[in-house]
Amino acid sequence: MTALIEAHDLTRSFEVSRGMFKGKRTLHAVNGISLDIRQGEVLAIVGESGCGKSTLARMLLGLLPPSAGAITLEGQDIRSLGRKGMARRVQPVFQDPYSSLNPRRTIASIVALPLEVHGIGTAAERRKMTIEMLDKVGLPQRFADRYPRELSGGQRQRVAIARALVMKPEVVVCDEPTSALDVSVQSQILNLLMDLRRELNLTYVFISHNLAVVEHIATRVAVMYLGRVVELAETAALFKAPRHPYTKALLASVLTPEPGLGIPDTGLGIAFPDPLNPPSGCPFHPRCPERLPQCASVVPQILRDETGAVACHLHGQGPAPH
Ligand code: SF4
Ligand code: MG
Repeated sequence: MTALIEAHDLTRSFEVSRGMFKGKRTLHAVNGISLDIRQGEVLAIVGESGCGKSTLARMLLGLLPPSAGAITLEGQDIRSLGRKGMARRVQPVFQDPYSSLNPRRTIASIVALPLEVHGIGTAAERRKMTIEMLDKVGLPQRFADRYPRELSGGQRQRVAIARALVMKPEVVVCDEPTSALDVSVQSQILNLLMDLRRELNLTYVFISHNLAVVEHIATRVAVMYLGRVVELAETAALFKAPRHPYTKALLASVLTPEPGLGIPDTGLGIAFPDPLNPPSGCPFHPRCPERLPQCASVVPQILRDETGAVACHLHGQGPAPH
């Protein structure tokens, strides 16, 4: 598979104020990520809340400029495509179908808006494309003139998917597309996304904290920790033989990928570190059950091989001391 999108040493930092007297601090939300997204794949990005998944997603969509590094789409820097050029090729589906749809617009006008903004088609043609797209996402024509409040969560997410696909993008970046939905409708939306991928030959970047979903739908998985990709592998290989201790802990359910839910992290004893004050050396070292003497001071370089990539001293060049 060829690379459609490439992220080159992508970094994004934010200045955040912290407390009344402590002044501004720099948060490195994404910290030097290099990643390729291949034509036709479902690349899942997983990690705990606050690891930088959504920031990475917004950069891949061209909605947030990187502080450093670059993103290319078929070799072309996305900055030269501009917002409009990007919107024709990469579209988002966000988590919350309640807040992402304008309550004052009808379903048809929500789906047709991107076409209107891009000056695609006449009003009648746009209406036709909209009805066709509603049909593709499983919404009957009678929904066209309804308002978001009249729809269920699952139906609203279908509208958001129709709005993303009406532009005929090549890539869809889904940021937790089912986590705001009832469990009973989550699988319907996932199945719809997978059917549309086949039918429309789409590439997905799929941000999720739900590892069961990821195992089911992804072709490759990138595991993020504190703004970095710490492991990247084909899905089957990652679930069968995780290499990074953080991935192992996630898969063993020792860590909850959603610490915001207040579930105590009992497994490794130490909770998710403060992203404003990340640990030295390997950022996972305070929680790592396999840490080595050098882990507290030396940042592990990412090792790329035929399996994928891993950033851990256990998998570095030279003999692992155990
Ligand atoms: Fe653990 Fe060291 Fe690997 Fe970090 S580099 S994950 S601390 S073994
Ligand atoms: Mg998020």
